[in-house]
Amino acid sequence: MEEQIIGIMGAIPQEVDGIIAILQDKTAVTLGNRTYYQGRLGKQQVVVVYSRIGKVAASATASALLLRFHVSEIIFIGVAGGIAPHIAVGDVVVARDLVQYDMDVSPLRPKYEIPLLNKTYFETNELRSKAVLLHIENFLSSAVLSTKIAVEELNKFAIKQPKVYFGTIASGDQFFSTNQQKEDLQRALPQVLCVEMEGAAVAQICYEYNIPCSVIRTISDKANQEASFSFESFVQQISQVYGQEIIAKLFQ
Ligand code: SAH
Repeated sequence: MEEQIIGIMGAIPQEVDGIIAILQDKTAVTLGNRTYYQGRLGKQQVVVVYSRIGKVAASATASALLLRFHVSEIIFIGVAGGIAPHIAVGDVVVARDLVQYDMDVSPLRPKYEIPLLNKTYFETNELRSKAVLLHIENFLSSAVLSTKIAVEELNKFAIKQPKVYFGTIASGDQFFSTNQQKEDLQRALPQVLCVEMEGAAVAQICYEYNIPCSVIRTISDKANQEASFSFESFVQQISQVYGQEIIAKLFQ
């Protein structure tokens, strides 16, 4: 049987650099303004890439992973803004399903539905997502986390007992940095746990090609007026470690 290759995507370098750093037998291919790193994590053959930001960049990259690199599954790892009130910086959200909150062809079709697909929510692969959940629970336990990130660093972000959640992620081409944006989304789609700019686009491509997809998002900010500051420092100091630990250990 041909070996299965898993595509691992982030949107920005800080989300995947930690993973690229530990690839074995690494080679790089640059195509369409993106660099795809092929190699192994343990026994698993992978292709790792950052897409740049937004739904267009992410869906184009997912298509290249499928068509040019023949991946049979995509895992997206990155950061997001917390929307549900109980979600804190340092928590992780694993997507059960994803929705494009900026798609709206109403009144022709219901708001948020993807035209001609007749679909609003894109489900992730249940088996992979459940395995990832268990794995992240272990990583976030204080015994493990404090050996990977210094307590002073964790304190800077008030990360005390981070948790992992399973639920709905909303994606769209907007960085949320005001309470108004956050409140509007909460009102429109009350089940949403966090907001980001790529996941639902990748999930749509995977759905259309019928391959398993999972999306893992660490909360870097609370999607409010402090978001820009929190996001910048979180991606500089913490997100690489989360990315490396969550993905690398998954394939050990
Ligand atoms: N620093 C970048 C811009 C980052 S945009 C630059 O200067 O070019 C934010 C990225 O993190 C996106 O990839 C998005 O998926 C995720 N994200 C984190 N917090 C977010 C928020 N509050 N709203 C929307 N996306 C967020």
